[in-house]
Amino acid sequence: MATLMNTYGARKLTLVKGEGSRVWDDQGNSYLDAISGIAVCSLGHAHPSIARAIAEQASSLMHVSNLYNIPQQEQLADILVARSGLDSVFFSNSGAEANEGALKIARKHGNDKGLKNPKVIVMQQGFHGRTLATLSATGNPKVHAGFEPLVEGFVRVPFDDVEAIKTAAAEHDNIVAILVEPVQGEGGVHVPADDYLNQLRAICDQNEWLLMLDEIQTGIGRTGAFFAYQHNGILPDVVTSAKGLGNGAPIGAVLTRGAASTVLQPGNHGTTFGGNPLSCSAALAVMSEMNDELIANVSILGNTLIEGFKAALKGCDSVVEIRGKGLMIGIELNRPCAELVDSAREAGVLINVAAGNTVRLLPTFILTNDEASELVNKVSAVIKNF
Ligand SMILES: *Cc1c(COP(=O)(O)O)cnc(C)c1O
Repeated sequence: MATLMNTYGARKLTLVKGEGSRVWDDQGNSYLDAISGIAVCSLGHAHPSIARAIAEQASSLMHVSNLYNIPQQEQLADILVARSGLDSVFFSNSGAEANEGALKIARKHGNDKGLKNPKVIVMQQGFHGRTLATLSATGNPKVHAGFEPLVEGFVRVPFDDVEAIKTAAAEHDNIVAILVEPVQGEGGVHVPADDYLNQLRAICDQNEWLLMLDEIQTGIGRTGAFFAYQHNGILPDVVTSAKGLGNGAPIGAVLTRGAASTVLQPGNHGTTFGGNPLSCSAALAVMSEMNDELIANVSILGNTLIEGFKAALKGCDSVVEIRGKGLMIGIELNRPCAELVDSAREAGVLINVAAGNTVRLLPTFILTNDEASELVNKVSAVIKNF
C-alpha cells in the first residue's frame, strides 16, 4: 500500500478475526498465535468481558481529556498500586511514552537535587522504545542509526553485569537512576541471574539512585508474577507498563514509589489521550480477569513449553539454548533465522524472531494443553527442518 509509510517493510499476512489463542486471515486460514500482538493480547483475542467493557464505555463516554476527573483512571490506579506495592500512577498511551515519563522523573529528580547533567544507566541490547529519548536509551545500534544526535544522558553497561555498574558508579558522579528490563525481550529473551534485581536494588540504595524497571513486556503476568520484580521480593522506585495492560487497547502507565511519586508536579507532564475512559475501562476489565490463579498458570505453562521444546529439540544441532521466564520464551539458534517466521506461518503458527537468531514465543495465558502441544510440535518441526 503505497500510501502507508514504509516503516514495517512488506507484511505477508492480513488477519481479520481472532478468538482465544487463534487468529484467521483474509483467506480463511487459521493460525495458532504464539506472539499475541507482541505480548499484548495475553488474555486472548476477542475476549468477551473486555469487548463488552469497551463497547459499553464507547456508548457512554470515550474521552474527556485530563482537564477533568476520570473515575476509571482512579480505579485502575488503585488496583495497580495495590498489586504492585508502589504508590502512584501516571497513564500514557504506549510503552515508549511511559518510559519518557520515567526518564523525565529521573532527570527532574536529579536536577531537583542540584545534580548537573543527571545520567541514567541503561543496558546493552536493552529496548525501551522508538521516541528520541527511548531510542537513545535503547542498546541496539540499528535503532540509533540515522537519528543522531541522540538524546544525551545515558551510560551504557552490559546486561546482567553488576560489576560494570559498580565501575560506572565510580566513574560518574552524576548518575541518578538505572533503567533496565527484568528480562530483555526485543534483545533476544535474556534472563539475568536470579538475584540481579536484588543486587541492583542494593546498589541503588547505596548510591541514592532510582531503580526504574521497564516492565512493558514483562509486566501484567507475563513472567508468572504480576510484575517480574515480585519474583525477587524487592520494590523498585519506578515501573513502566503497557503491552498487556489493555489486552490491545492502547494504554501505558508509569508507577512510582516514595520520593519518585512527587517529582512531577502540575505543569511538568501531561497527555491528551492518556488514561481516557475507553482505555481505562478496557484495562479495568483486564485487571478483573488477571487473577493470581491465571498468573500462576503462566509459570506452569511456561515450564511445560520449555520442557516440551527441550525434549523435542534434543540433539538438534542448530539449537544453542532454550530459555525464558513464564511465557517469554526464546529458542536461540546458531545462525540468523528470520525465515523461520515464514515456515512457521506455513505450518499454521505465528512466531517472531528477535535479535536475528532467536525464535521468540509470547503465547496467550489461556493456551490449552492441546494448543501447547501443537505449538511445541509445529515449531520444533520447523526448527528441525531449518
Ligand atoms: C514494546 C516495548 C517498549 C515500547 O513500547 P511501545 O508501546 O511500542 O512504545 C518499551 N520497552 C519494552 C521492554 C518493550 O518491550
